[in-house]
Amino acid sequence: MLAPTEPSTRTRPVTVTAACVFGDRELVVIAGPCAVEGIEMIRATARAVRDAGAGMLRGGAFKPRTSPHSFQGMGAEALPLLAQAAREAGLPVITEVGDPRQVDLVVQHADMLQIGARSMQNYPLLAEVGLSRKPVVLKRGLAATLKEFLLAAEHIQVRGNEAVVLCERGIRTFETASRFTLDLTAIPLLKQETHLPVIVDPSHAGGKAHLVPPLARAAVAAGADGLMVEVHPRPAESRSDADQALGFAEFADLMRQVDRCAAVLGRARGMTGVEQ
Ligand code: PEP
Ligand code: MN
Repeated sequence: MLAPTEPSTRTRPVTVTAACVFGDRELVVIAGPCAVEGIEMIRATARAVRDAGAGMLRGGAFKPRTSPHSFQGMGAEALPLLAQAAREAGLPVITEVGDPRQVDLVVQHADMLQIGARSMQNYPLLAEVGLSRKPVVLKRGLAATLKEFLLAAEHIQVRGNEAVVLCERGIRTFETASRFTLDLTAIPLLKQETHLPVIVDPSHAGGKAHLVPPLARAAVAAGADGLMVEVHPRPAESRSDADQALGFAEFADLMRQVDRCAAVLGRARGMTGVEQ
């Protein structure tokens, strides 16, 4: 039996709500679809991920897509739907903001802002989010070094917003069998270099649903403070990132696996919204 591992004493927790705190003993799992596609699917997903034990709902409104011909998200129209679904489920909610001009609008609907990998070095955006005072998940750029990642976080912090959570989501390497390569080494290195909580997105890293559970387990074992996982009511019909989305039953199973890993490490998982 391994000795229980304390979360890094250097980690300064980021509080979103009383029940949703990153970097504390409890792991926080953020879950939801890549993109909001309508009220029914986001409502069903919010309920399902809450019942499985997720601590926060995710859902994209403004989607940065590699191809301009792909679904770009529902845009502003998605924000009240996302907020409504989260409110009904009793979960806080995160969504991506991709343009400094969208920040004022997005902060009205979200409890936490997401800066996507493709925006990690959008300095006007980082500055605007820094002024907003909303907690932020900053995703690592596709080809960013850890130094560049940490300096991007500082662009937010120097504007007065200290509530930054770092998210490792895989980097570009020569390997093409997975969508990206999850850099597990980043977790202990970032925790050594900074007091910011570190979470991992196994969905975008692996790019395939069957890779999500092993990558998630590895991330928890390596000391991640939480996870961000894509979940869709009917993964095959997902309008974006269909290959990597988990269905509701798969997500519930993943949460049971995460619980077992967390228990071995002496770290509970946030149980917002479900009876303990
Ligand atoms: C997302 O979270 O849906 C997303 C687009 O992720 P990333 O910015 O990491 O590619
Ligand atoms: Mn996605």
